[in-house]
Amino acid sequence: MATEIDAIRTAILDEAPGDELGALPLPESFRAAVVRADEQEMFAGVPSDEKDPRKSTHVDDIAIPELAPDEAYVAVMASAINFNTVWTSIFEPLPTFGFLKRLGKESVWGKRHDQPFHIMGSDASGVVLRVGSAVRNWKPGDRVTVHCNHVDDQDPTAHDDSMLAANQRIWGFETNYGGLAEIALVKANQLMPKPAHLTWEEAAVNALTNSTSYRMIVSPNGAQMTQGQAVLIWGASGGIGAYACQYVLNGGGTPVGIVSSPERAALLHEMGVEHVIDRKAEGFRFWSDEHTQDPSEWRRLGKAIRDRIGRDPDIVFEHPGRQTMGASVFVCKRGGMVITCAATSGFMIEYDNRYLWMMLKTIKGCHFANYREAWEANRAICEGKVFPTLSRTFSLDETGEAAYEVHHNLHEGKLGILVLAPDEGLGVTDPEMRERLLPQITLFRRHDA
Ligand code: NDP
Repeated sequence: MATEIDAIRTAILDEAPGDELGALPLPESFRAAVVRADEQEMFAGVPSDEKDPRKSTHVDDIAIPELAPDEAYVAVMASAINFNTVWTSIFEPLPTFGFLKRLGKESVWGKRHDQPFHIMGSDASGVVLRVGSAVRNWKPGDRVTVHCNHVDDQDPTAHDDSMLAANQRIWGFETNYGGLAEIALVKANQLMPKPAHLTWEEAAVNALTNSTSYRMIVSPNGAQMTQGQAVLIWGASGGIGAYACQYVLNGGGTPVGIVSSPERAALLHEMGVEHVIDRKAEGFRFWSDEHTQDPSEWRRLGKAIRDRIGRDPDIVFEHPGRQTMGASVFVCKRGGMVITCAATSGFMIEYDNRYLWMMLKTIKGCHFANYREAWEANRAICEGKVFPTLSRTFSLDETGEAAYEVHHNLHEGKLGILVLAPDEGLGVTDPEMRERLLPQITLFRRHDA
């Protein structure tokens, strides 16, 4: 039996006009990848590595929430796995239900988010289905991507830089009704145009990681790299690292990428990253035991960088955290900057402060991107200056499997999730541009094959 969702999907695939799409009835419920509140203790006592997103992630039918005046429903054609999907699905460092409870106390509209389920997902590409009465810039039928900065702009702290807003949240992580669902609930100020030369799945994987790397490398709110600077990039073929490499290359900088296999090194070379360090092959052990770092290993990394580029990096793009921060602070150039947005291997950080103050270095914290930064990062994609790093796609039912792969560092670049898109390869409206950029657009897919 055909459902309202089938009719919406068919209308999108047939490129029905926006007013037709906007007139279609909405379903009472939709399918979504969720974790459940009554399972948030399921991994208690289990080591982090063994917490399995395939056990905690379910695809459930969820009732459609009411639409606030400043919001839109988006029919999600494709979404993506981010590391925050991993954190949510393994309930680390905390179960996300606490975030939803807090949001629930803020307002009548916030209350909708406090549910016994959490729809995950902080990325999406799709089509606007309905807009609230206060939405001015978007209408049903608009093809969009969604960035994940969820901010109530009626709060004065949300102005200047909305990442500094007291009520700033990451959509689909600190809010409910994220992108891993047939219908997503988003604020209108999360919407951005879909790049015309990309398929739904290629368009879905960029916003979170591309915008984060843009802010970290390019923006005055981040390291604001200038031409000729050298940037050491950890995890250079990963989610944020592969976009960081592109911004460094685009800005006339010299990236030094660190990866953990010859295949990843080859991928970076093909991207145009000349200087690559394989951390596994070179056997770096920055910690001699759980409590003790080995500064001689920091020096060995510093030498490996100087051997390649003849100098120390002006900027270190840092996110592995505890495992690498001591080395990052050490190898950074005198007066340089370690810019950090994460701590995947542990957030209680240790470094030798003498190398920071005596050498006048800076450690700067960075987190996602404000709307303007996300918009500029999206424009770089739309104009073909930055390409998507999609390596593989999964179905919505396979969300847990895809999160498992990211949890265990088994993926390259980004993993996409097909939601309403029945197949890969759909949604392109500028085939000429696509043809011209095909080698870059498909680089990560070819390497993964
Ligand atoms: P990915 O897993 O896609 O990539 C991370 C890369 O880091 C891996 O490819 C791996 O590369 C490298 N890596 C992993 N562990 C270590 C380690 N112990 N030492 C050195 N390198 C390591 O994740 P993302 O790039 O998407 O995200 C990275 C982190 O950034 C996550 O913690 C995520 O939550 C966070 N993040 C934060 C954002 C923010 O706004 N604050 C936004 C986006 C992400 P290799 O093995 O090849 O060296």
